[in-house]
Amino acid sequence: MKKFALLLVLILTIPFFVVGCTDKGEANYTSYTLFCEYDEVNHTLDGKERVEIFNKYDNTLGELKFFLYPNSFSEGKEAVSSSYFNRAYPTGEISYGNIGIESVTSENEALVYQVNEEGNILTVSLQEEIYPNERISVDIEFTVKLANINHRLGYGENTVNFGNFYPVLCVYENGFVENNFATNGDPFYSETANYDVTLSFNKNFVLASSGDVLSESENGDNIVVNIEAKKVRDFAFTLSTKFQKISNTVGDITVNYYYYDEDNFEENLMIACDAMTTFQELFGEYPYKTINVAKTNFCFGGMEYPNLVFISDEVADAETYKYVIVHELAHQWWYSLVGNNEFSEAWLDESLTEYSTALFFEKNEQYGIDYDELIEGALRSYRLFIGTYKDILGDVDESMNRSLSEFNTEPEYVNCVYTKGVLMFDSIRKTLGDNKFFKCLENYFDEYKYKTVTSNDIIESFSKSSKTNLKGFFNAWLNGEVVLDNE
Ligand SMILES: [Zn+2]
Repeated sequence: MKKFALLLVLILTIPFFVVGCTDKGEANYTSYTLFCEYDEVNHTLDGKERVEIFNKYDNTLGELKFFLYPNSFSEGKEAVSSSYFNRAYPTGEISYGNIGIESVTSENEALVYQVNEEGNILTVSLQEEIYPNERISVDIEFTVKLANINHRLGYGENTVNFGNFYPVLCVYENGFVENNFATNGDPFYSETANYDVTLSFNKNFVLASSGDVLSESENGDNIVVNIEAKKVRDFAFTLSTKFQKISNTVGDITVNYYYYDEDNFEENLMIACDAMTTFQELFGEYPYKTINVAKTNFCFGGMEYPNLVFISDEVADAETYKYVIVHELAHQWWYSLVGNNEFSEAWLDESLTEYSTALFFEKNEQYGIDYDELIEGALRSYRLFIGTYKDILGDVDESMNRSLSEFNTEPEYVNCVYTKGVLMFDSIRKTLGDNKFFKCLENYFDEYKYKTVTSNDIIESFSKSSKTNLKGFFNAWLNGEVVLDNE
């Protein structure tokens, strides 16, 4: 995600988990088969989901846990912090949404299930334990009620956004990881999986989604679309009656830009294409056929999903809008392909994504954003934040390695994770030199694409590639020991 606070200035270990990658091959990926129908009058989505799970772990599983993000919009929850309230709620009134679980079965046998009080976790008790290397298939029927909110999930004036709309299997480490909701950042963590999704919606809508559309047919007033998304970390889509589409290609990849109310669509498509070219050259191949960039009503700057990014229609400045496109596309490498727990170790994807954005502008001078000025701007922003907050609060926690809930304020989160993240990667690059640094990025991507990483993994990967022990270096930055607050 890209926070608005940063956009205005145009830049202006966390717990070290024990388990690293858990990927044991494509055949063992979880598969999701979804049938969903959207009712645009009541703003509800009826869904049926079949989740086929292979127990690739060393333990038997007696229960399964799923994350229920739509409940973060339910009554009593804070879906956005107060500073985003007006951007989020188009009518100025708070609006609620949620997910109701209608049934959970396996092979037509009802299973006992429970949604916890917080609403974030669905626990399904299995009738028989699944042993390592065994498979199980679970069917979940659910209804999502959308809030009237310009958010990842919700309907606004221009688009209906479906990010994180279905029950998603929690990642298993030493037990299922149960993330909390958060108003800062992206509280998500999921593994690469295969998706077969059938969506039915009123034929006045145009769809932008993850994956590739295999077929389309009409059914009364609705259009029914079948989509395949293989080896992706998540599945999302957005609908609009206003979408226009412009496309181009980068090698074998089709780049689509969905927009409305706009004159800059050719330039915005061009920078998206340039970003795909540059990031493939710098990090490695984008292994899918399609990337969709969709303008949406969205209270933050943008949001990333596999093969699909949302760009907020509230980003009025054309240069900032382009910056957000590049940032969100960099997430295809950092978050989508190389995954991490975005709740507990947000720096892993956000710091590297923000730095990758600076690299894009360095390699593409035609956009007129100077790399050195970006770095200097980041340093100025960071010093200003430290100075201001030290005056107010006396002391500031400058560590980057915290979970989303451990950041005390939004500026603290943005400055420690995004701004300081840029400075950290610039500093590593200057220490190692360009050859070693870019080799580190390439090797890290190659080693961990489709997998999940922890802070230890990136430190070890960079140390190995550069033949330099970078543990002390990284930890000094991550723990907040590097002093940046004086000239
Ligand atoms: Zn981001």
